[in-house]
Amino acid sequence: MAAVAVLIGVTLPPRRLALSPRQSSPPQPGTEPAAAPDGTIPGAIHVHTNRSDGLSSPDEIAAAASRAGLTFVVFTDHGDGTRRPDPPAYRAGVLCLDGVEISTNGGHYIALDMPASPYPLGGEARDVVEDVRRLGGFGIAAHPDSPKLQLRWREWTAPFDAMEFLNLDSGWRLWAEQAGGAAGKWRARRHLAAALFHYPFRSAETIAGLIRSGEGLPYQWAALAARRRVVVLAGVDAHARLDLGGDPADSRYALPLPGYESSFRVLSIRVRPDSALSGNAAADGAILMRAIRAGHLYTAVDAVATPPSFEFTATNDRGTAREGDQLDAGGPVTLRVRSNAPPGFTTTVWKGSDALGPERHEQDFTVQVPANPAVYSVDIRATGSRGGASTVPSVPWIRSNAIYVRNPEGEGRLPARAPATVSTPIFDGRTATGWRAEHDPTSLAVVEAAPGFGGAELRFRYGLAGGTSPGRVAALAFDTPGGTAPNDRLTLTIRAERPMRIALQLRMGDDQGEASGERWQRSLYVDTSEQERTIHFDELMPVGETHTFRPVFPAIRSVLLVVDATNTKPGDSGRVWIKKAALQR
Ligand SMILES: [Zn+2]
Ligand SMILES: [Zn+2]
Repeated sequence: MAAVAVLIGVTLPPRRLALSPRQSSPPQPGTEPAAAPDGTIPGAIHVHTNRSDGLSSPDEIAAAASRAGLTFVVFTDHGDGTRRPDPPAYRAGVLCLDGVEISTNGGHYIALDMPASPYPLGGEARDVVEDVRRLGGFGIAAHPDSPKLQLRWREWTAPFDAMEFLNLDSGWRLWAEQAGGAAGKWRARRHLAAALFHYPFRSAETIAGLIRSGEGLPYQWAALAARRRVVVLAGVDAHARLDLGGDPADSRYALPLPGYESSFRVLSIRVRPDSALSGNAAADGAILMRAIRAGHLYTAVDAVATPPSFEFTATNDRGTAREGDQLDAGGPVTLRVRSNAPPGFTTTVWKGSDALGPERHEQDFTVQVPANPAVYSVDIRATGSRGGASTVPSVPWIRSNAIYVRNPEGEGRLPARAPATVSTPIFDGRTATGWRAEHDPTSLAVVEAAPGFGGAELRFRYGLAGGTSPGRVAALAFDTPGGTAPNDRLTLTIRAERPMRIALQLRMGDDQGEASGERWQRSLYVDTSEQERTIHFDELMPVGETHTFRPVFPAIRSVLLVVDATNTKPGDSGRVWIKKAALQR
């Protein structure tokens, strides 16, 4: 017993530092009691309840957040976006917002501040990003450093609004992974066993000692931020479940660890609102989301030191900007950092992914930088010697959002595509000649010419089978015996009975040997307003495994418009009308 006590005593992670807060300047009267001394509101984003794979109810989790000193919690249960989110509500004095974590082909995507989607969100990551944006939501690329490929966000070219630079749930998996190799695995397990001993004594500190974040993420973020605004934050990803069996669906091997309260004590998002919270949940939810969308926030690892106080501004001849904001370029820029970083902590000012100047140890300092456009951010690390080498942090104590010094013209746009010069219609405007329907044995699909305004339209009626059997599909097909080359796009004039997603697919013939029937696709959003839409074939992505990443255009035998269970509920039926359709180049 004594030996165990000695073991625990020797290797216990250092206790968190209790800081004296630094008042904001100017102080913000009225933001108390919800706000921290620096005027920010502490909370947690990315929390699972027992509505998906979390352990506890929203009320129990809110109570845990309250005990941990948080002011808000954002629930993000797994779903497809069709569940109507709960309205903002105060539970146990904690403002609770409700979002969703959507599984896409390119990783997990968190959507906040969004109404229910009229159809299931899923499939390609870029399409889910587009859908969340159209619905008015705010999207966060979740755990882009997850060691699990299906979970990890991989769609870096999509215009997502925010990204996690740190995720508590991935953080310790990453730590176990980084231990590496068979020997490393055992070392990691021994470490984890020690952590389970320490957990009852200093749970938040123990978790903080285990987490890692992807080393490439700061560079990925800097590369994105050079072109556009991307909010950066940490996800708690709290489930209160530690899977030991490797199968998340099998709870026999799950421990109720780390608990919600401990997770909430590890790190917090510190949001700086534009106005004081009033106690009215709907109004306060709107204030909070406005600040989160603007990137008026930083992340603090409270298990290292708390409560944090932090401010970061940039000033030039045009004015002053705070983190998250853009500053129009005009004259040299003065960056100012104020914090309550304890002695021995190191503050680094970043220009993109380059550290600016020497490391700083003061609590209040300025840095002069040239006038030209650049993206600045700050992190603070606990680099001092605190109880041995094991405390050297891989994650910063504080990470700011960026200040974007830009030319007033703003962010770069993609160059427009050259217009098509050759167009080959594949619908004659009178009959459905050349078109046919395809469907699985249990679903229905019919294609026919139907009278419309100013001529006939191609009318497609579909009914997906209900139930849970896989492979439901209804499609509209046009055969291209000679391939689609040299055309490089399809232009459609299309509308639907209600908002939906339909996928354009190019399919190889059944005479292509091993590659027979391989498909590539791009889905498009269609609603009741008639729109001309062009899909460029270089945007198509493989459906499942294909021998080549891009379609082999001379070997394409069919152009299809496909409705399947990716974005349509089983049992749903509907109609789609196409007025014009042409292959172009
Ligand atoms: Zn996830
Ligand atoms: Zn999650």
